Amino acid sequence: MRVAEISLPAIRHNVRRIRELTGVAVIAVVKANGYGHGSGIAAKAAIEGGAALIGVADLEEALALRDAGIEAPILCWLHGARVDWAAAIESGIELGVSDLAQLDGIAATAERLGRSATVQFKLDTGLSRNGAGPEEWAGLFARGAELVRAGTVRVRGVFSHLANAGEEHDLAQAARFDGAVALLRQTGIDPELIHLSASAATFSRPALRYNAVRVGVTVYGLSPFADRSSADLGLIPAMTLRSEVVALRSVPAGVGVSYGYNHVTQSETTLALVPMGYADGLPRALNGAGATVAIAGRHCPIVGRIGMDQCIVDLGSLARKVSIGDPVVLFGDPSTGVPPVEVWSELMRTINYEIVVGIGPRVLRIATDDTEEAAEEASDPGAVAERLEIGDPERMHEFGVRLGGILAAGDLLILTGPLGAGKTTLTRGIGEGLGVRGPVTSPTFVLARTHPSLVDGPPLVHVDAYRLADAAEADDLDLDFDGSVVVAEWGAGVIEGRESWIEVEIERPTAETVVAGGDDPDEAPVEPRVVTIRGYGPRWASGVLS
Ligand SMILES: *Cc1c(COP(=O)(O)O)cnc(C)c1O
Repeated sequence: MRVAEISLPAIRHNVRRIRELTGVAVIAVVKANGYGHGSGIAAKAAIEGGAALIGVADLEEALALRDAGIEAPILCWLHGARVDWAAAIESGIELGVSDLAQLDGIAATAERLGRSATVQFKLDTGLSRNGAGPEEWAGLFARGAELVRAGTVRVRGVFSHLANAGEEHDLAQAARFDGAVALLRQTGIDPELIHLSASAATFSRPALRYNAVRVGVTVYGLSPFADRSSADLGLIPAMTLRSEVVALRSVPAGVGVSYGYNHVTQSETTLALVPMGYADGLPRALNGAGATVAIAGRHCPIVGRIGMDQCIVDLGSLARKVSIGDPVVLFGDPSTGVPPVEVWSELMRTINYEIVVGIGPRVLRIATDDTEEAAEEASDPGAVAERLEIGDPERMHEFGVRLGGILAAGDLLILTGPLGAGKTTLTRGIGEGLGVRGPVTSPTFVLARTHPSLVDGPPLVHVDAYRLADAAEADDLDLDFDGSVVVAEWGAGVIEGRESWIEVEIERPTAETVVAGGDDPDEAPVEPRVVTIRGYGPRWASGVLS
């Protein structure tokens, strides 16, 4: 019931994007369980995207990646006083070195093992955090050069980390870094990798890219900037946080919801229970802040206090379209119509990093990849085809009623099939499901007929698009597409400019069968029909009926 779906293609794309943008080596940072995405999943996809090196904070994380089968070079830089240098050297982990004691410890261990250790000098150029300070550089580099000559140590790189305190400070740090690199070269060491920039500077300070960048949050497709989105940077968010509706409750106005009753329903509504709480990384303080989740292609607010295991969503007018088991997306790639994680981080006055890394251990990380189906989907966005066999007109009508229960204002359904296939029967069912005034008949003698709602819902507009020449003619009908459910027989003209729509194709297995339909030739299937439903666009990305 709790899934963080991690898109491998998104991570590969993001690393490729950073490589193309910078033209330098990419060190992909997968510390803290890959910023909550799963470190093994993230490392594998980053390498496939062209990362040259994997970065983590500490040795435990590095060794876990080796255990998970990651064979690429791994660098770690934050060490405890009792760190196991031997394990690092035996597993071929590169070590960031912040002081002389660490360097000597590594060298002594390497000598004892009869092996050589690979290190990178980690320098403090103004963050006042981890790293050797300027006063230590000369001594550290001189000792490094000795150990290199002795063959116990290889110095592969030198790096520092920016405080992101503004351009002036970044440039001052870079100047100190340049000085350090020059000093290192004077000792005879020529470092292969020189890196200063994390995600923010990688995108905002091209001059500070040296020959590698060390990026974390952008690998996952998230922006390190408050004023620029993932899409602005050409990145794709990799995590979609998913759950499902596990209970529905109709309540009158004036009912207190969840602990403390700090939400009281304003009108009669339906509440959906979603089994994700603060144990799973929903900030408890999101309570009442206005965050929404995506259900059935719409955004519904989280209401009432968030519990450890669950939260409550107010479905409002969407209630009729939602059933137990329906998928819920808490955040993901906003280009698919779901809320971005930044809604939460902004409401919480924190950064997107903190939200994704805080997704709890109970949430299953599931990697998704391009499959053959996904490849098909890329060339045909409606590849989510659902197929049904429908035995008789009554079933066709029932199927229409079911579709009517799914459709909402703004939805477009294109209906195709030969005369007599049952298109009018289906549309009549849709009308009943929507609760509109009948009778629904074949639109053959009108271009479009509007059936007003009898239940305060959207009207059904039934269009005979066979007779529309093009989009301009569809425009001339002056239909309220956004406020109606539109069922169009034949799609020419009506789908132009639409983001999402459904196609329903009805086929008669035996075309010869003559239809008993009275005056209406498009009536009453007497033979089974095969109905194919395809959802196009973000609204129907996970299917129409599922
Ligand atoms: C976490 C970390 C990074 C990655 O930072 P992003 O802002 O996520 O790109 C780079 N370098 C060091 C030293 C880090 O600790």
